[in-house]
Amino acid sequence: MSKSIAIIGTGYSGIILAWEILTRTDHQVLIFGLEGTDGGLAYSSTDVSHLLNVPSEKMGFNNANHGDFFHWVQANMGSVPQFSPRFYFKQYLIDCFKELVNQHPTRLQIIRQSVHNLIRNQRGFLILTEDQKNYFCHTCVLASGNPAYTNLAKLANPHIIENIYEPLALDKISSHDRVMIAGSSLSMVDALLSLHQKKHRGPIIAFSRRGFLPHGHDFSHPPVLIDWSNQIGTPWSSILKRFHQELKNHSHNWRGVIDSLRPYTQSLWYGLNTAQKNSFLQHLRPYWDIHRHRIAPEAHKIVSNMLSSGQLKIKMARMIKIHGNDPCSAFLKPRGEKRIDEYQVEWVLNCLGPAIQACLDRPLMKNLIQSGLGTACKTGIGLITDPIGKVSENLYAIGPICRASLWECIAVPDIRIQAEKLAKEV
Ligand SMILES: Cc1cc2nc3c(=O)[nH]c(=O)nc-3n(C[C@H](O)[C@H](O)[C@H](O)COP(=O)(O)OP(=O)(O)OC[C@H]3O[C@@H](n4cnc5c(N)ncnc54)[C@H](O)[C@@H]3O)c2cc1C
Repeated sequence: MSKSIAIIGTGYSGIILAWEILTRTDHQVLIFGLEGTDGGLAYSSTDVSHLLNVPSEKMGFNNANHGDFFHWVQANMGSVPQFSPRFYFKQYLIDCFKELVNQHPTRLQIIRQSVHNLIRNQRGFLILTEDQKNYFCHTCVLASGNPAYTNLAKLANPHIIENIYEPLALDKISSHDRVMIAGSSLSMVDALLSLHQKKHRGPIIAFSRRGFLPHGHDFSHPPVLIDWSNQIGTPWSSILKRFHQELKNHSHNWRGVIDSLRPYTQSLWYGLNTAQKNSFLQHLRPYWDIHRHRIAPEAHKIVSNMLSSGQLKIKMARMIKIHGNDPCSAFLKPRGEKRIDEYQVEWVLNCLGPAIQACLDRPLMKNLIQSGLGTACKTGIGLITDPIGKVSENLYAIGPICRASLWECIAVPDIRIQAEKLAKEV
């Protein structure tokens, strides 16, 4: 029987899921997303120096053809970088979406509204949008993705650039200005790439609690094949012991050991209880993030050159306050020290990244939790789902919103697989 399936969100997760459902079934699809948000947060930067962290040949739209993005770049941009600008991926996604609309003019309906709430009725759900309209669907999938970027605004100052991804956001920085960056992870790398592109010469200080920097990809080692299946459902201590052993066994190829976990990470994570997940988030996540979410070698080289030339300095610290103008005084408390250091800088850039601990604070999530349609994971990083993404009867989720239950579900290769499974399930 043909059903109507609603998808909330027009980021990569929403678009690939619509494609999978329309291709595999005869269901009707209603997809909700505000004008201008297609492609989602990750690919919203228009700065071509911001690169994908997955090679171009692995970023294809669907499971049937991983090389499709590579061919799209070749056809539309000429040469294909090993790691393409994220902006190219957004253009590619928008092309895929347009093609989908053309192929299924009667089965796909796009509603340019933000969804505020869902109400379950006997047949399915009423979907309530911000403009006070409502729509019916039998089954609904939340593809509402990454939370917004973490704010520095409580330290409000005209010299803080809150959103480095806004077009022209960094144009006001003069080439010899002193720049401070809050955060030392992937968004900091984006900021450094933008500054490098505009030939910035002034000193840059980046700070974070641990001062960790993301590692770069290195494809000079062969993949490592490890069967982790006997670790599923075992305590952390056992997984970590085995992990350390495998690192010793493959001492020249830690990347291979991390990558070997990928097919098992969702099941390993799913087997953990809340206390174990919280312990990972508090103690291990910073290590996981810099080893797992590696950056393009060319991006890594630029960051390394900035460090070795002394232009970039990394501090383990937290910000206490900023005051004054032109320059402003930024006060950092170094980790483990009592003293507070003062820095004179022209600009402070917010590179704290998406606020994953705040992903349930959004109105739709709050409403779903309040009405009992969804259950918040006590880790605070998402809704509880089953291994495929089921939230409750006829309600599913896909992509980063499933992080609390699946963890490894945020990058294109993982979302692609989840979309295929969900399309078969709904
Ligand atoms: C900066 C950054 C860089 C990344 N780089 C890579 C990379 O190189 N390679 C890779 O594989 N992965 C990368 N990722 C991971 C990325 O999360 C996924 O690739 C993917 O884009 C997630 O897509 P999504 O659609 O689930 O979420 P999002 O991209 O966040 O899209 C969600 C969409 O839903 C909309 N929405 C939210 N709530 C509602 C609502 N209530 N009603 C209607 N619409 C709503 C939003 O406006 C948005 O358009 C990156 C992530 C970030 C943050």
